[in-house]
Amino acid sequence: MKKKIVSSISIISLLSLIFLFVSSNSVMTQERNSFQDEYVPNEVLVKFKKDVGKYLIKEGINSVQGKVITNLGEEISTFQWDSDIPSLRSFLLDPDLLHIKVPEAIGTEQAIYSLNLNPNIEYAEKNLIFHICVDPVDTHFSRLWGLKNTGQTDGTYDADIDAPEAWDIFTGSSDIVVAVIDSGIDYEHIDLQANIWTNPGETGGGKETDGIDNDGNGYKDDWRGWNFVNNNNDPMDDYSYIYHGTHVAGTIGAVGNNDTGVTGVNWNVKLMAVKSMNSQGGGTTANAIKAIDYSTKNEAHLSNNSWAGPGYSQALFDAISRAKDKDKLFVAAAGNFGERLNWYDNDQTPVYPASYNLDNIIAVLSTDHNDCLSSFSHYGHYSVDIGAPGGSLTGGVEDIYSTKRGNDYQYLAGTSMATPYVAGVAALALGKCPPLLYSQLKTRILNKSDYLSSLNNKCVSSGRVNAYSVIYDPYPPSAAPSNLSATPTAWDIIRLTWQDNSNYEIGFEVKRKKAGEADFSHLKSVDDNVILTQDETAESGITHYYKVRAYNLAGITSFTNTASAIIPTGLPAAPYGLSARFFQGANKVRLTWIDNSNNEQGFKIERKSEYEPPWQEIGTVGPNVTIYYDQDYFDHDTFYYYRIRAFNPSGNSAYSSIVHVYIPW
Ligand code: CA
Ligand code: CA
Ligand code: CA
Ligand code: CA
Repeated sequence: MKKKIVSSISIISLLSLIFLFVSSNSVMTQERNSFQDEYVPNEVLVKFKKDVGKYLIKEGINSVQGKVITNLGEEISTFQWDSDIPSLRSFLLDPDLLHIKVPEAIGTEQAIYSLNLNPNIEYAEKNLIFHICVDPVDTHFSRLWGLKNTGQTDGTYDADIDAPEAWDIFTGSSDIVVAVIDSGIDYEHIDLQANIWTNPGETGGGKETDGIDNDGNGYKDDWRGWNFVNNNNDPMDDYSYIYHGTHVAGTIGAVGNNDTGVTGVNWNVKLMAVKSMNSQGGGTTANAIKAIDYSTKNEAHLSNNSWAGPGYSQALFDAISRAKDKDKLFVAAAGNFGERLNWYDNDQTPVYPASYNLDNIIAVLSTDHNDCLSSFSHYGHYSVDIGAPGGSLTGGVEDIYSTKRGNDYQYLAGTSMATPYVAGVAALALGKCPPLLYSQLKTRILNKSDYLSSLNNKCVSSGRVNAYSVIYDPYPPSAAPSNLSATPTAWDIIRLTWQDNSNYEIGFEVKRKKAGEADFSHLKSVDDNVILTQDETAESGITHYYKVRAYNLAGITSFTNTASAIIPTGLPAAPYGLSARFFQGANKVRLTWIDNSNNEQGFKIERKSEYEPPWQEIGTVGPNVTIYYDQDYFDHDTFYYYRIRAFNPSGNSAYSSIVHVYIPW
């Protein structure tokens, strides 16, 4: 079902209003307010508390006569809805978040007001509208000064990201997937085609068009991405004239060295087309969440987000947070509404998603061909991270050249154009060094930027991204780690320790193979100088093999010895050394003990008072935990007795010894 995005103000009318701003402050304020209030009428995003249950969810939605909009855009009644059926959920990765439609007679504001009074609801919010961050302008000079600036546009020599220097080292890897969450991509463009992501679960043997969701990700035949605006499998860029997503995609990864058109920051990469913005460059929170979740679930390594809006959405924050939990970097435009609305400082007036307080976000401002802050660009000493070439409107000559739908090319400018330079550099670094954590990658991109006085205190790094500096390290880690050992400590946990023998490493990569698997695969990465971690996703009863190596951008060392471990399936060993102490002021009893088990799921705590036998189980704690606070109401002048035991699916261990405390008068 096609959703109609109606708003009081379209992007085109916004542009035409620029002229009014100049003469009238009152118009500016008014427009700013209506801009901030852009949302899809009669729609609400409702987050129910965890474990509320289907009945209370339906009751909540019925209270505002709501209908559920599914992740495929169908409107259904609460009678038809069932969160256990994934295709009926509003959002695949968050069954407690519902996208609902309410009658016009109730309307968004009233629905949100009344839903927020419901104790079963965490929050209810508007389905906000975002815009792509481009300032379209016609220009006539054709140079990719952002990659290499020789002054060809009358700009400044070397005001660029040092791309050719980086390409002497590395030109990208088709193993790295960048989700372009945008207006789509012209996947047939001669300069993009070879670098377009295809979904391995939906390709080959006619799976592309068999009408079956072969890989079970919730989307049928999504072999080249997904279109969340029209709910189909064709993410072709349909944003007439602008073709924003196609432009962004070209900067990240237009095919290099093919004697054609332009070159992306990566010559080789995979561009995942995730269409969340409509044919006018607008998009909703609901579609942004679906698009982010799609890229997370389908294992894009990072996403490019050249869109923004002024409204805060908790649901969108949560989606980016889910990406963070899967180690995904989220590169976002700092925004350029300033021209229209006369605000530029994101520290003062946040712009989302760039301004969310999540450390997997890199917020990007725009620089021009003189390495100056672009006149249209937002900035923020604390809320924007780094600059990148995004062009300028001054004189109307300096712009960013990239791919346009129909085997064409064009100039655009905006923080939209700056963002893919950073996403491109991140992909280049990941291709060179795949074990990098998002946190290591982000730190590196910021620390290795070129300081610019023009950006001093305008962003966290006060610098413009430099591709060469990010992917260059002078030396590989000096020696491989050694002495790896693997020890089971709980029902699904194996502890790993090793010896760090190197200087210069960025981190260590742990690889794992379970009995029966053919190859080792990446388990996790940790930071430099770390010598201890855990596999918290181990299985009991089968042998696990591990090996560890050190990495940086110059190279990866050989592996440690292979260590193996097996978590036993029998009963856990009993804990010992139980001791109890009463803290009178805090009125609580602290228990501590020694964990003697290598296969427990947790520990059960039992208590009895001298007057109230028998023993009662008062709580449980997780695996490898050796402390518990009993904060119950205590009778005075009474002895209390405690004992504990470990448990796992095979049963309980023997008890620890019994200890007692005296609760005085
Ligand atoms: Ca699918
Ligand atoms: Ca299929
Ligand atoms: Ca243990
Ligand atoms: Ca070290």
